[in-house]
Amino acid sequence: MCVGTLSSLVRTRALVLLGAPGGGKGTISKHILKWSGKQAHFQGDNARSRLSHLSIGDVLRSNVERGTPLGQQVGELMKTGALVNDSLILNCLSDEVMRLKAEKFQDVGESSAKAKEEQEKHMHYLLLDGFPRTVPQAEFLVSPEVGIVDAQDSSSQLAVQLDVPVEEIVERISSRWIHRPTGRTYNLQYNPPRAWSAERDPKDGLVDDETGEPLERRPDDEPEVVDARLRTYVENQQPLLEFFTSQDRLIRFSGSTFPDLVGQGKRSDAIVQEMLVNERLNNFWGVL
Ligand code: ADP
Repeated sequence: MCVGTLSSLVRTRALVLLGAPGGGKGTISKHILKWSGKQAHFQGDNARSRLSHLSIGDVLRSNVERGTPLGQQVGELMKTGALVNDSLILNCLSDEVMRLKAEKFQDVGESSAKAKEEQEKHMHYLLLDGFPRTVPQAEFLVSPEVGIVDAQDSSSQLAVQLDVPVEEIVERISSRWIHRPTGRTYNLQYNPPRAWSAERDPKDGLVDDETGEPLERRPDDEPEVVDARLRTYVENQQPLLEFFTSQDRLIRFSGSTFPDLVGQGKRSDAIVQEMLVNERLNNFWGVL
């Protein structure tokens, strides 16, 4: 089916995950995806979740790895911790959203769109991890010309801010290791690779669980670059939070209502627990 037809048949709701680098956006996304897979399974929806996860950072890193024209354009800049310019990001986002929609809804036929119930079924949920990072990016998402989400629909978009103390962020990033070819991420504190024990020096042969290949630091996880990324985050975050607050679309989570989990170093788990019982979020997901 052509892309235009698919756009008109399948509506999109976006949950935007905002938070500092290393603040747990990726970990929390994984929890939400797992939960949504289970929901789909219980509803007999052929075990197919209608939720897609999109991390622009992952897409950019994969382009850098593959040496694509986009990767060549952004590789050096990403090493400095600065943001990639909005127009490149917006093109990349539009392409990825269309690709994900086609992947989830390839079997949606024109005739079925007429039934109201079917239309409800054709709701695509997007979990946007690390987008938007600037107010123009946030405006793009709801702009009628772009039409990623329906600006007229007040429930088409919700933003979630993850509030994590900066000391925790620095500690997390310093124990993060990745398997570069797949982007699989490990954290030596709470998600270490199987073949590692705390007595060993991290640099001493950390390997990926699936392939046995060596793990590496993300080039932008080196301490000087982390400082730059945190500065970039602080500069851009306040206007973004004000933007979503002014539209009454912002919910903040810190995990603090589950102090035991936070005390055990499991703040992301605590945040997920808070999210699962949040009424606004539950209404947003609808029958997902
Ligand atoms: P983090 O949230 O830890 O910074 P990401 O993987 O989300 O990590 O992003 C890595 C890098 O990719 C950023 O430092 C930035 O250079 C680029 N990037 C990711 N998302 C965006 C975005 N929405 N706008 C501009 N640049 C982005």
